[in-house]
Amino acid sequence: MDIEQGNEVSRKSFLNISLHTRILLGMLLGVAAGLIVRSNVTDPETIETIISYVKPIGDIFLRMIFMMVIPLLLSALILGISDLGDLSKVGRIGLRMLMYTIVVTGVSVGIGFAAVTLFQPGAGLGASQREYLETRFSEQAEQVSANAASVHGRSVMEVLVNIVPKNPIEDMARAFDPSYTGGGLLAIMFFSLIVGLAMSASPADKVKPLRDVLEALYVIVMKVIGYAMQLAPFGVAALLFILVASIGGEILVVLLRYVLVVVGALAFHQFITYSIILKWVAKVSPRWFFKSVAPVMATAFSTSSSNATLPTAIDVTINRLKVPRSIANFVLTIGSTANQNGTALYEGITVLFLAQCFNVDLSWASQVLVLVMCVLAGIGTAGVPGGSLPVIMLILISVGVPGESIALIYGVDRLLDMCRTVLNVTGDITAAVYIQKRFPLMDAQPDGKASEFQQP
Ligand code: ASP
Repeated sequence: MDIEQGNEVSRKSFLNISLHTRILLGMLLGVAAGLIVRSNVTDPETIETIISYVKPIGDIFLRMIFMMVIPLLLSALILGISDLGDLSKVGRIGLRMLMYTIVVTGVSVGIGFAAVTLFQPGAGLGASQREYLETRFSEQAEQVSANAASVHGRSVMEVLVNIVPKNPIEDMARAFDPSYTGGGLLAIMFFSLIVGLAMSASPADKVKPLRDVLEALYVIVMKVIGYAMQLAPFGVAALLFILVASIGGEILVVLLRYVLVVVGALAFHQFITYSIILKWVAKVSPRWFFKSVAPVMATAFSTSSSNATLPTAIDVTINRLKVPRSIANFVLTIGSTANQNGTALYEGITVLFLAQCFNVDLSWASQVLVLVMCVLAGIGTAGVPGGSLPVIMLILISVGVPGESIALIYGVDRLLDMCRTVLNVTGDITAAVYIQKRFPLMDAQPDGKASEFQQP
């Protein structure tokens, strides 16, 4: 997949101000305007009228993302799974990389779940604020809860059987229709999974035309997400204005708690889980590792894109960590889209947080579903700024939380994107070091010499 795509999204600027600075300005503007309205206008009807003028800006922005959910899901997941499937053809190493990705991504989502359960950031909403949110999203919430009720009325077997689509086109067409009781987005995920696996098991020359079409679709989807990101400063300003003007400054405290929980969980996985893997499994010094990868972390933080960080990551992994080129290229290229621990962790926390805000009580089964979807999302989310957003909508809808509720966190998403991308790329490099150390067979260079992988 094209490394340039992510770059392009973050490089574009208006009046020479970078996109993330514009988003930050949008955030500040939205909050400030919301607070001003809140403290100067006492009549709720007038506030509603002002909001009705601002709302379309936020809605258009969200719709731009919504419309790309299905094309993105199809292209990214089929390609991601078929890449991983191809991996297993590489033999023992490929299978190990696959297992590593699934286990470590699962651990990262588990950490996110533990953090959100422990600190309950969404529970801080007052009754009146929650009531407002429920009214604001009432239409979607009502339909979703009607659907959830009908889901609860079904046996586990029925729900499982529905995941296998009878007619995937119907599931695509009705994926956002809350009254639809078929498999919906889950069924499309299943469909993509099977197609991806079948694609990797078929002769490459025969499936090339479809792969090319999917690659092209993926590139176009990324472009459109790039366009949506250009609207982000306005979208963020509008969404935050609406929230603060209608709920008041208290919502900012809840958001701050959510941000702290996400950043804390990301830092835990980054410095504790990876240190354990590095020290006990790969047997290298975590200190040396983190010192060496600091430039990669800085690049990931400033671009918010694993794809854009790939060249720096490959360079540091080969030249500083002395991992052989063959392993670095192989693991990091696949990892930049298929091994996204930070993204999976973030998506898990966000879905549980929004469920808390909307008082949606997720059963154990739904939580396991979220976990599985987040692990899959870690494989299928595009390594570009904002790549997570369509996927979060998808998971929210699947477990009965209105997809539009993402508006609540959008204002802080960019900041969290910078942080989770750091984890994504550090995770890829950790995987490369792990593979290198555990599989000395791959030490052999194409010229037959042993690699010089070592730590000082
Ligand atoms: N920005 C992330 C990355 O490129 C993807 C995401 O979580 O939005 O790794």
